[in-house]
Amino acid sequence: MPELLPGVHTIDGVAIDVAGAELPVHPGLILEPDGLTLIDTGPVGGDRPIRRYIEAAGFSLNDVARIIVTTHHSDHTGGLAPLARDTDAVVAAHVDGIPLLERRVPAPARPLSLEGLRLLGITVDDNQFALLREWEAGYTPPAVKVVEELHGGDTLPIAGGLQVLHDTGHSPGHIALYAPALSVLFAADLFYYDGREIHIPLPIFTQDAGQAVATLRAILDTLEFDIAIPYHGVPLRHNAAEQLRRAISGVKVAAGQALPGSVIPSAEPHRATV
Ligand SMILES: [Zn+2]
Repeated sequence: MPELLPGVHTIDGVAIDVAGAELPVHPGLILEPDGLTLIDTGPVGGDRPIRRYIEAAGFSLNDVARIIVTTHHSDHTGGLAPLARDTDAVVAAHVDGIPLLERRVPAPARPLSLEGLRLLGITVDDNQFALLREWEAGYTPPAVKVVEELHGGDTLPIAGGLQVLHDTGHSPGHIALYAPALSVLFAADLFYYDGREIHIPLPIFTQDAGQAVATLRAILDTLEFDIAIPYHGVPLRHNAAEQLRRAISGVKVAAGQALPGSVIPSAEPHRATV
């Protein structure tokens, strides 16, 4: 059971399928006596491994007090509707993402590129790529009522004070969460780490890469943390802020897209596996 720190877990056994490749994602789970906080809910069907994980940890779904959604994207919200239904949890999201989560406005298309897939190690032919675009454009999880409206700069009463960091680059209302008391950044989609290389950001999941890079730079200019947990891939567990500073120093951005140079080998002493 991946417990990074006492009471801070990344839920394993959840993956997204991109053109036949299974890519792991890691919803976060914070265990506290007054309730559990779940960060993101996986793709469609992601609620099942999340339920299993919570039960294996000795809790029930009734113990989930809050579900924080970091972006409306379907790989983060596929399990949201069933989990919101089957828990008494308050669903919390950034104010800019709420109309998307409640399906009051259409979701903007995501930039899906062959180059972005290549960075993930995925090769597709033109037919597969066309199918992927269709899937991406066509799928939206059911609407979910968001009860708690978040803003950048908010501090939630979780983990000794969980700070909401707003990023306008990845998607409307994308947030990361910073727990200074734990020295942990829940980075959501600000970067991707596959266990070997740090990708800042991952083009296929990012609306405006330039803005996402600027957000991460601003975070790294001001915050310190040992552990950074990206939603996609695996956590950086050692000197994470420093590793990300090193990685981002090589990132060049043009016309809203991160250019080659944004893939940096990590300096993790213990190589993680995906
Ligand atoms: Zn994502």
